[in-house]
Amino acid sequence: MPGASQLRDHRAVSPHRSPSVLVVGAGEAGLAAALRLRSAGIRVRLVADQGRASYLPGTVDVMLGEAGATRFQQRLALDGIEVVAAPAEAVSGSGVRIDGSWVAADAVVAAPGLILEPGSVGPNGRGVGCWDIATAREVPALIAGVAKGVVAVVIASLPYRCPPAPYGLAMRLAQRARSRGAGVRVVLTTPEPHPLAALGSAPGDFLLAASARAGVEIRLSFSPDLQALRHGQVMAADGRPLAADLALVVPSHRPSPLLEELAGPGPLVPVGAGFESAEPGLFVIGDAAATPYPRAAGAATASGAAAAETVLVRLGLAPVSALPSPQLDCYVGHGSGRFSRLRLRYPDGPPPEGRPEVEVSGPSEELRTEFASGFRHWRQLRRGR
Ligand SMILES: Cc1cc2nc3c(=O)[nH]c(=O)nc-3n(C[C@H](O)[C@H](O)[C@H](O)COP(=O)(O)OP(=O)(O)OC[C@H]3O[C@@H](n4cnc5c(N)ncnc54)[C@H](O)[C@@H]3O)c2cc1C
Repeated sequence: MPGASQLRDHRAVSPHRSPSVLVVGAGEAGLAAALRLRSAGIRVRLVADQGRASYLPGTVDVMLGEAGATRFQQRLALDGIEVVAAPAEAVSGSGVRIDGSWVAADAVVAAPGLILEPGSVGPNGRGVGCWDIATAREVPALIAGVAKGVVAVVIASLPYRCPPAPYGLAMRLAQRARSRGAGVRVVLTTPEPHPLAALGSAPGDFLLAASARAGVEIRLSFSPDLQALRHGQVMAADGRPLAADLALVVPSHRPSPLLEELAGPGPLVPVGAGFESAEPGLFVIGDAAATPYPRAAGAATASGAAAAETVLVRLGLAPVSALPSPQLDCYVGHGSGRFSRLRLRYPDGPPPEGRPEVEVSGPSEELRTEFASGFRHWRQLRRGR
């Protein structure tokens, strides 16, 4: 990170100027951090590629052709926060490089999410890696091209964003094929021996039973051979084949290039209790941070608020306070407009000491309405309300 030591000099906050913080990424985590810092009177600059925010929970709707991508990618309009509509090229504890120049700040909060591994599926049209709004766009045409046969939803590796969501995608696909009388079988493969194993047995039992009712076949402990996948073939590393006419692949996730040097052996960046990384002054939050929680919006929002709180303590603008543990709500579509909700709370603190309290609700049509209200909330958020 060139310039890091030189920039550190700018960090001593003079009593005559208001402190400034740069936040990179306008996902759930970055927005939560930026809004909390704004409310404390900090000068916040939010670096957001193209000046837009994306709503990832809309990804499955786009894959199924039930909503357009533009619905879930909207321009930021935030009162009191300067939006820098450009990609961050590098980050340090005291600044961000944008368009070749280092911009200094008293602290930097990096929330770039995770990157989908490119090329994890071959270009022969039988498979596609799709787990964000941009990649979801090409899926409806591919699904429409399979009148009969097998559509596979393939989880390439762990961790991935929103653990129950691929099950929702598979159930909605199977339910749709059933209602159209199409001869399409839906198979979901996961490397896990039991779905969502880290959360205990109940969520996985629920997903297995619901998938069976929807007509989805589940292949457990199926770690796909990533080489074969690159050539459009679905095959487990142990040699088990799966003849699929189309593979919708949740690709392996890797760290943002901004954080590559800080990431652990997997895609996540180790952080301390206040989300500070090994680079002093650089906070890493959201999906990119190595926390014991699933990659979900509730965890991202809580990490944004917690990092902002830590920054305020460092700048002498807030007293030290306990950081709240998150509540995570993941919504799973079952088809025919019915959704269920997996709610996780951590009353005894974070794992591994604290066990999650898991509440499964639904499926019901009311939960679809609740899911939709999450989208309305995000639209307010990207307007800074
Ligand atoms: C299919 C799917 C369904 C989901 N459903 C749910 C759900 O029901 N419930 C739930 O709680 N969670 C759900 N999630 C997970 C949730 O969306 C993520 O956990 C959350 O969005 C993570 O927030 P984040 O801010 O860390 O990252 P992101 O939301 O990925 O945001 C990162 C932002 O940073 C930007 N960025 C990246 N690099 C740069 C750069 N160099 N410069 C500037 N900007 C940059 C990106 O463009 C992006 O806008 C789902 C995710 C997916 C994929």
